[in-house]
Formats: sequence, C-alpha cells, structure tokens
Amino acid sequence: MPTGPETGYDASLGEKFVFVTGGVMSGLGKGITAASTGRLLKNAGFDVTAVKVDPYLNVDAGTMNPYQHGEVYVLKDGGEVDLDLGNYERFLDEDMTSDHNVTTGKVYKEVIDNERAGEYLGRTVQIIPHVTDDIKRRVREAAEGSDVCIVEVGGTVGDIEGMPYLEALRQFATEEEPEDVLFTHVTLVPYSQTDEQKTKPTQHSVKELRSIGLQPDAIVGRCEDPLNAATKEKIALFCDVPTEAVFSNPDVEDVYQVPLVVEEEELDEYVMTELGIADKARPPAEREDRWRQVVTRETTAEAAVALVGKYDMADAYMSVTEALKHAGLERGVDVEVLWVDADDMADRHRDRLHGTEAVVVPGGFGSRGTEGKVDAVRYAREHGVPFLGLCLGFQMAVVELARNVLGLEDAHSAEMDPDTSHPVIDLLPGQRDRAEMGGTMRLGAHETTIEPDTLAHEVYDATACTERHRHRYEVNPEYRDRLTEAGMVFSGHADQRMEILELREHPYFVGTQFHPEFRSRPGRASPPFVGLLDAVLGDLDRRAVVDGTGTGTGHGNEEVEV
Ligand code: GLN
Repeated sequence: MPTGPETGYDASLGEKFVFVTGGVMSGLGKGITAASTGRLLKNAGFDVTAVKVDPYLNVDAGTMNPYQHGEVYVLKDGGEVDLDLGNYERFLDEDMTSDHNVTTGKVYKEVIDNERAGEYLGRTVQIIPHVTDDIKRRVREAAEGSDVCIVEVGGTVGDIEGMPYLEALRQFATEEEPEDVLFTHVTLVPYSQTDEQKTKPTQHSVKELRSIGLQPDAIVGRCEDPLNAATKEKIALFCDVPTEAVFSNPDVEDVYQVPLVVEEEELDEYVMTELGIADKARPPAEREDRWRQVVTRETTAEAAVALVGKYDMADAYMSVTEALKHAGLERGVDVEVLWVDADDMADRHRDRLHGTEAVVVPGGFGSRGTEGKVDAVRYAREHGVPFLGLCLGFQMAVVELARNVLGLEDAHSAEMDPDTSHPVIDLLPGQRDRAEMGGTMRLGAHETTIEPDTLAHEVYDATACTERHRHRYEVNPEYRDRLTEAGMVFSGHADQRMEILELREHPYFVGTQFHPEFRSRPGRASPPFVGLLDAVLGDLDRRAVVDGTGTGTGHGNEEVEV
C-alpha cells in the first residue's frame, strides 16, 4: 500500500473500511454522503477508494434501462456500471475499475461457475459461506492499495436482496480489527405536520440493522434542515450511539456542497478518530482546499443549454449535466440545463429549444426520438447555435448533414433503419456476428489522434486525447469523402475510425464518437464542454483555426488535482 507522503500513513496498518448503509427509503443521497466522506478523507491526505455494492442480479448495469436506474456510467476499463461510481470518480478524482462495482449477478455467476468447475469438492454450495465469502473477497481486493475504502451498500436495510451483503459485512467486521471498520447508516429524518423532526423511522431502520447483527457507529440524518440538538440526542439514545456520532446532512442546492456541509459537522474528524488515523491526518489548516475553491467559485454569467434526450429523468443524463456544471465552474457560468424531449419536437419542445444558447445531443440507443435529435442538430447548424453531439449525438450530426446538405434523403444509422439506402452510420466491424448483448460494444478508454489546426485541437490543446467509449455503430468510411466535401471536418481519428467531427463556418459545432462527459470532474472540466461554453460566451478564439495559421489558445486540459 502506498504511504501518503504528507501524512506518513503507515502502510503496515492495512486498509480501513467505511461501510455505508441506508435506511427508510432509497434516493436519500447515501452515495453522495459516502463520496463526500471520502472526499474529506482525501483532503486530509489519505488514499481513498470506493466500492458500490448493487444487490441486483444483472451482472453489470450495461443492459439496464436508464429510465429505471439512471445513466449507465462507463469506466476507463470499459466497465458499464452504476451511476454512483460516477459520483465516486467525480468526488474523489480517482479512476475506478469494474471491480469497484460488486453486483449480485457477478457474485452468483462466479460462485455458480466455480461450482460447475467442481471447485467446491462435493460440498453443498450456499449463500453462507460461499456467496458471502465471494463478497468479502471482492471488497478486500478492490480496497487493496488504498488507505481507506468506502463501501456503499445499494438499496435499503431490510431489502431481501441486500441480506447476503449485510451478512458478509457482519462477518467482515468480526474478521478485522475493530479499529479498521466503521459502519455509517444514512437515514431519513422527516418533519411531522407540526414541524417536528421525527426520529421514529431512523429508530426502526437501526433496529432492523441490529437484528442482522450490525450496530452503526455513525448515523447521518438526511433532513430538509440541520438536525436540532434534541433530535440528535434522541437518535443517540434510541440507537445506542454517542450524540457526537449523529450528523446532519441537510438539503443543499448542489451536491458538491455536501462535503462542505458534513465537514462543518465534523463527520470526517469522527471517522478518522474511530478508524485510529486522526493523528496521521494533515492538520486542518494544511488540508487540501481545492474542492471548496472550485465548488464555491462565483458565477458571472448564465447560459441556458438544451439537452435533447428521450428520457424525462435527470439521472439518465447525469454525467452530461455534471460535465456542463464543471465547465460552468471553470468559466464562472451558471449553466441551466433545459431538457428538451426529442420525441416531442414538433410541439412545445421546439420552442424550448429555440430559447436556449447551446444544444447538446447526448448518447442513446434505439430509434425513439432520433428524428427529433436530427431536427435539433439541423436547428443548431443552420442558426449558428453552439452544438455538442455525444456518441449518438455525433452520429445524428452525420445523418443530418447527409440528408440536408448532401441530399441523401433517407440517410440514417443502420441501427435505426437497417434498410436505409445510405447507411452513413453502420455497425463497427466485428459487431455483425455478435451473439450476446452484455459488455459487447466498443467500450472504455481509447486514444484519439487530433488533427492540427482544428477546433478539436484548440479545445483539447493537444494532439491526442483518451476518452471513454460505448458504441456499436460508427461513421461508414464509404461516405467519408462525400461528408468532407459537404464541409464536415473529421478532426479526430482512431486508426481509420472517425472520432471527432466539426464544421468550420459555425461558432462551435463539435461531435464526438466518444463520451467526454465520463472523464469530467470538478476542477478538471472536459475540454469539449468548456469549448461549448466559451462559444456561448463568445470567447472562443477561432481566428487561428479558420485561417489555419496557428494552434489556438487551448484550455481546460491541464491535469489539476482536486
Ligand atoms: N446507439 C449508438 C451506437 O451503438 C450510440 C451509442 C451511444 O450513444 N452511447 O453506436
């Protein structure tokens, strides 16, 4: 395990674990609380990683509908995972791997495969110990090399699906030194009609936890407001924790404020003391303060950005909206994201689109909404509205140009119209004979070479970028020359693949076959998103690009630690 140079953390101490469970109901922001705790420990000088445990039978999130579960987040190694991993990457500024998302599907698949391979020597294979052992192994392996590993258990205590995990954690705690493991329970503290903060739901969920043999060390109460002293005392008394172990996590305008709020509550100090690492932490005055600087930056301008998608659900495009926010933080712009229904473009959503200053067409699958996306691209192209197309958005920009500039009326992606006479977007080689749906796309980080004297070069300020992918289809090389003649510049390539497109006679028209949003972080905004906002602000210096004399100014690509 690496030793934190500033903290002098003693590697021989081994990893410490913070287990985070949730009570009362889902959607409380347990993941954000967990990620915020991790952020503060990192500010104090520790190497922090995280594991998200998802008690569903899907092997990974890749086949799940974003409408039910929010976006599928893509990791560097190509893992298609729960969106909470995105929160961990953004809050910790650490890259995770697929091993950091443990699902029931992965665990059972492994155990059953082992059983078929004859590894259990005639024994009966059971949830305890075989499934629980596999869960513990995965958690330990994912934690290797870090000082502290935050392990968030998805769902709510009491769910049948979560039981094997809680049992595994109970065993885990008995196998480790008491100082190496801390249980944090995140729960809801609602108001009664008489405006009283009610602790009964918390009491019940802690009772449920205890019936499984788990006693929380810390309780975090999600409430509209900070918990008052009497509420904290009551929770402490009924749940058998000291009052100092009860923390408020009130509603805030923006999730990036949560680390600041729980720091006020001294949750980090408590966690470090309980884990026996407080004396190894940087003194408060020397802690990393960049997070605060980034997320409290003053905004001096506003921008309304249209996000043209088919899911009326904020979580379905979480990384895209976060990336816009990061670009806003970088440029001091308060970005308002307006969801525009791609399936309802003929109606009131067209007016919505017209009221915005930039258009983003994000990734997606399937034909619903694609005509609306093509319309949105056309609007942005013809009206000089700054445009960013991501994956499917990039593909629809190609379709739009083929139809409306090249006059290939039925041009389409073969995904939406397999019989089109002009498949300008077609299956990747190697995707034709695919038998399985799960994990079979072109996934994860791949390098793109960026052409000199292009807008892409200007925004990335680099001759290459490595971004994450998740697609089956790509620009059909047979149409490349015609598209180029029609004004489309392919400014980024990976081998023969077209990865970035742009249009010259336009303030900002950029499409990426990859998903730059997955690498965007507070304090390290994604260049194509920053470029979009610069174009809105009218700051984008394109002279060098248009006359081909220079490399542009470049921005947003510095490797800054948060
Ligand atoms: N459906 C398209 C493809 O498979 C785009 C995928 C995406 O937007 N992530 O290529």
